[in-house]
Amino acid sequence: MEFTDKFHDECGVVGVFGQSEAANLTYLGLHALQHRGQEGAGICSSDGRVLYIEKSMGLVADIFSEKRLKRLPGSLAIGHNRYSTAGSSVLKNVQPIVVNYSLGSLAIAHNGNLVNALELRKELESKGAIFQSTSDSEVIIHLIASSTAGGLYERITDALGKICGAFSLLIMTENELIAIRDPYGFRPLSIGKHDGGYAVASETCAFDLIGAEYMRDIEPGEMVIINDKGIRSMKPLYAKKHAFCIFEFIYFSKPDSCIFGNQNVNHIRKELGRQLARENPIEADLVIPVPDSGVPAALGYAEQSGIPFDFGLIRNHYIGRTFIEPKQAIRHFGVKLKLNPVRKLLEGKRIIVIDDSIVRGTTSKKIVKMLKEGGGAKEVHLRISSPPTIGPCFYGIDTPTRKELIASTHTPEEIKKYITAESLSYLSMDGLLKVVANPEQYCSACFDNKYPLLSLQDKEEQIELF
Ligand code: AMP
Repeated sequence: MEFTDKFHDECGVVGVFGQSEAANLTYLGLHALQHRGQEGAGICSSDGRVLYIEKSMGLVADIFSEKRLKRLPGSLAIGHNRYSTAGSSVLKNVQPIVVNYSLGSLAIAHNGNLVNALELRKELESKGAIFQSTSDSEVIIHLIASSTAGGLYERITDALGKICGAFSLLIMTENELIAIRDPYGFRPLSIGKHDGGYAVASETCAFDLIGAEYMRDIEPGEMVIINDKGIRSMKPLYAKKHAFCIFEFIYFSKPDSCIFGNQNVNHIRKELGRQLARENPIEADLVIPVPDSGVPAALGYAEQSGIPFDFGLIRNHYIGRTFIEPKQAIRHFGVKLKLNPVRKLLEGKRIIVIDDSIVRGTTSKKIVKMLKEGGGAKEVHLRISSPPTIGPCFYGIDTPTRKELIASTHTPEEIKKYITAESLSYLSMDGLLKVVANPEQYCSACFDNKYPLLSLQDKEEQIELF
């Protein structure tokens, strides 16, 4: 098989054990985690004898009808939301992946990227393994199935010893649910109690919707086994160093979730906004967010600076995947579809605009133009609630290549000129680390190029770069 797809797995996972409507609850959990992936979704359930699977491209609410959920019986289920990225937007990559192997059936749902998936895949293929997808997660299932270690836990441990990278992983058999987090703890994964049963999810906002009570995080390097005998914890992976993804706080997780030791995402984002105001004050009339990602930080900035907060850009939430552009081209059509300035509020004013990050810089440039041309703003001062994004993520956040990250090749002053703002400031790295608990436990490679793990290819690229 030609292997052209990039490994991108910016996803959400949910598991439910010991509930009569496990698939329905998993469906709700996936809906709460829809922000973690919109390309496709799937649910695998078990009635104790057989695994049932339903998966499709699209959004959770569009994929699962009542009829389809009825085809997922049993009190155990896992689900997965997959993120949309170029090249790999195909049904074969939608999870959970289900296989039959010598010990029975197995389903897997994975969030994170493995850094050695390519090498492992080549090795497995050379031994005769046939891959159905281009997803790195399939490597894990092949390693488990082909392991010569004794029972399932031993096989999983054997497989985990070979994979390297980010994995918040749910594995299910006919009668048990296994939740695993890689030793660095890159991606979040929490466990909750639910009516005598259990739920596991990437983020706690999934627990809120299904009425589960947060118990704790699955620890880095931990494997939690849930079956009829109860819940058991094993530590098959030695946690060398924690590397929680700081970008989960900045952009990716939902503000209502609590992650990485029960820290509320909204609270952290607001504090980032406060810190940004302390570091980068400017005289202005109004603080506005780029909705939705900049809202909590803008509130924090406004509270700290004493400058009034308002919604100067209104977001249309009902944009489908494709939208027919009128024949006569409209300037900045894409961003205009999503955002519209409130002219009556902005006209003649000095505006501070808060966004969480600049990636390529194209959104910021269009927003500044929109605020000035459509909104009539007198001055636009852009404040970013994270440091300049200079490095791609190899652990599961979908970022473009290093060359495409504007801050990797341009200074803030150059970016300011490019986006035509009156001023531009980013949060400092120290400021960012001040806000989170135990700052030494984070991966912030996208801001400081300090990668906890690299693939062989990435290592070569790094050598060229530095
Ligand atoms: P850009 O136009 O490429 O600079 O994109 C900046 C916008 O993308 C900001 O408003 C961010 O909230 C958003 N953003 C940041 N990281 C990501 C990501 N990994 N995937 C999608 N959007 C992102």
